Amino acid sequence: MRIAVIGLGYVGLCSGVGLALKGNEVVGVATTEEKAALINGGKIPIYEEALEESLKACLKGNSFRATSGLASAVASSSATFICVGTPSASDGSIDLAQMKSASESVGAALKKTGEYHVVVVKSTVIPGTTEDEIVPILERQSGKKSRKHFGVAMNPEFLREGKALSDFLHPDRVVVGTGDKKAAEMLRKVYADFGAPIIETGIREAEMIKYASNAFLATKISFINELGNLCKKLGIDTYKVAEGMGLDKRIGKHFLQAGIGWGGSCFPKDVKALIAKSREEGARMKIMEDVVDVNASQRKLVIEMLKKKVPLGGKKIAILGIAFKPGTDDMREAPAIDIIKHLQAEGALVQAYDPKAGDNARRLLLDVNCHASARDALKGADACLILTDWPEFAELTDKDFALMKNKIIIEGRRILDPKKVGGYEGICW
Ligand code: NAD
Repeated sequence: MRIAVIGLGYVGLCSGVGLALKGNEVVGVATTEEKAALINGGKIPIYEEALEESLKACLKGNSFRATSGLASAVASSSATFICVGTPSASDGSIDLAQMKSASESVGAALKKTGEYHVVVVKSTVIPGTTEDEIVPILERQSGKKSRKHFGVAMNPEFLREGKALSDFLHPDRVVVGTGDKKAAEMLRKVYADFGAPIIETGIREAEMIKYASNAFLATKISFINELGNLCKKLGIDTYKVAEGMGLDKRIGKHFLQAGIGWGGSCFPKDVKALIAKSREEGARMKIMEDVVDVNASQRKLVIEMLKKKVPLGGKKIAILGIAFKPGTDDMREAPAIDIIKHLQAEGALVQAYDPKAGDNARRLLLDVNCHASARDALKGADACLILTDWPEFAELTDKDFALMKNKIIIEGRRILDPKKVGGYEGICW
């Protein structure tokens, strides 16, 4: 199938390349010709495992190409996947500016298409958005009727950054939200050999499945973090408790790693948007509000722990790990941002290292010395915080930490190997 993918960020680029690997002819739409040219040259503007190699293979096989020409990409395709950003607005609701603008352009392009076309909303949008906001834009701009001249489906994406391409290609399930038989049929074809169950729902249910999934996972993490704080006080190993819980099939072992909590491009904005919607509807979600509070308090806790060991003014603090999780350069809502800003506000000097997020950190954080290695960041430091569980941190030894002025180490993620490093403290252990 010929498919247009609008928005070449983490989701769009992975979905586009993934769909190309599955035998489709994909044209990815970027906002600028420079970005399209970069991608057509086999380079990706983000860090994502295996993506660049796969992109190169698809470019070579002519199954993927990027363009900034949205109209012709849509007009020459049978389906358009919208994968643009849906960030938080200042009140916590979602900012639909990118969605609306992309939908206007897609609608205008649909005006000229003769063939039946399916518009697939892959971006995460609050329930009601596709039917109440996107479809009217598409109909107005195209002068055509949804379900009659074109189809609309909501197909949420569940990939994890760091494993995005693999997750896209091997999903646990595919959710196809549409009341439209023809649109559902086309998407069933697209996902036929993904080896995953396809669940067909209404559009609103599909939108809510995405929010419900992320809200539940964020809840699981905040739960184990709160429990971890108590376990630490009681001298109990939270990770053993999590292992014992996780073997229960009803619970599962994932998202039970106590630490400084969740961040990233999805959980914070999705949970906030769900809370904002629940308030708007007068159906306040108290659990979700607490989930957010617990998450914020973990970040404060790590600073309180540090301040008990060293006064911050004028002190050099080494930060190991800035990305919101390992395997990505994405720093959106990373715990490290809040923590670094707080340290700086109290007069500390930050010397940081992240294997992939250094460039983003230089852009987003002021006055942070980003070093080329963990050892460089540790040199002369008065204390060290470990904020991302990059596997390479498990290789650090006492010899590396001997580079510090004072060996004060606080782990926000459990990654150090106690056989190689002694005398450190974990946030929940
Ligand atoms: P992103 O910010 O990395 O990418 C969005 C891209 O869309 C940007 O490159 C932007 O320039 C581009 N764009 C915006 N308007 C455009 C237009 N009119 N034409 C062409 N390009 C346009 O965002 P992302 O992380 O890829 O997320 C995209 C959506 O998918 C969001 O709704 C997000 O919530 C959801 N999602 C993200 C993840 C994740 O892990 N990142 C996982 C599942 C779902």
